[in-house]
Amino acid sequence: MKNLINKLETEKALSKEEFVQLIANFNEESSDYLFQRAAIVRQKVYGNDVYIRGLIEISSYCKRNCLYCGIRAGNKNAERYRLTKEEILACCQIGDELGFKTFVLQGGEDTYYTDELLVDIVHSIKEKYPENAVTLSLGEKSYESYKMLREAGADRYLLRHETANESHYSQLHPASMSSEERKRSLRDLKRLGYQFGTGFMVGTPFQTPELLAEDMLFIHEMQPQMVGIGPFIPHHETPFADQQAGSVPLTLFMLGLLRLMLPHALLPSTTALGTAETDGRERGILAGANVIMPNLSPLDVRKKYMIYDNKIATGLEAAESLAGLKKSMEKIGYRIVETRGDFRVMNYEL
Ligand code: SAM
Repeated sequence: MKNLINKLETEKALSKEEFVQLIANFNEESSDYLFQRAAIVRQKVYGNDVYIRGLIEISSYCKRNCLYCGIRAGNKNAERYRLTKEEILACCQIGDELGFKTFVLQGGEDTYYTDELLVDIVHSIKEKYPENAVTLSLGEKSYESYKMLREAGADRYLLRHETANESHYSQLHPASMSSEERKRSLRDLKRLGYQFGTGFMVGTPFQTPELLAEDMLFIHEMQPQMVGIGPFIPHHETPFADQQAGSVPLTLFMLGLLRLMLPHALLPSTTALGTAETDGRERGILAGANVIMPNLSPLDVRKKYMIYDNKIATGLEAAESLAGLKKSMEKIGYRIVETRGDFRVMNYEL
């Protein structure tokens, strides 16, 4: 296994068969070695810095029906809310005071937020906080809509491809959605000059090492600046209620592989990791991640953005939870920095 890990580190690519071999046979020993190499590579590019993104979950309404997601339109018991422009700006204000230099507006695909309204929101945030980055994560849109939002000042966009394999995609989504459309959206985002992120869940129903290898190849082809991955966690009001949750060790292993394949990538240690294991986010950083996305949403809506069961919603104010995160990062030898944390390409010798 070590030889394949070394090969990935030097060549930043592997064949599908090689990825399958690594993923299907991963164990504690190969994970430990991978995490050591990933820490060295990340150290060379980003040092011990961990970037923070203030996550604002703007709406729990969604017109889509992804089979895994708790806020799918078909979940009639989901609690729905949406934030007004003023409420979103109030979250940004709190975040800015705390030192956040990136705001991430994430939500279900909610038609209430027309292009005009979103342009107005993005524009107002950029006007008020010109030095801060605005990231959007609002699902699939037309090229024209992405273009308007980019021109309004949006810097980055997160849209996980979920699974690169067409037939696996159709096992996780209704017939009205397609992997092709998802990939079209990602290519549009790239063409428009967004710093863009993609990603997938680890342990979704029907996933195999072959499918995870295909995800790695797709990510290699796209060369995104950001990749978000986390374990699949079932939600009791979805068709996947009785499915098994994804494995944390395998998620960490995939994070390590991503760090070696994309040394400069911004890789969040996700909320899903922190939900699956109490020290999941710290372990994500130790496996190769370098971004954390604390929640800036108003306290009273946090429990309503339940995309999977038991999603962390500590009830702590943003300031308190940030203080806790700073401490937990220091404990493992990392430090939270208050910069935009843009994608950085550096030449480094291995
Ligand atoms: N609607 C936007 C989109 O589809 O990109 C953004 C919000 S969506 C809820 C964000 C991500 O949550 C999805 O890309 C998916 O990977 C993840 N997610 C949804 N349900 C999940 C579950 N049950 N377990 C883990 N992650 C989940």
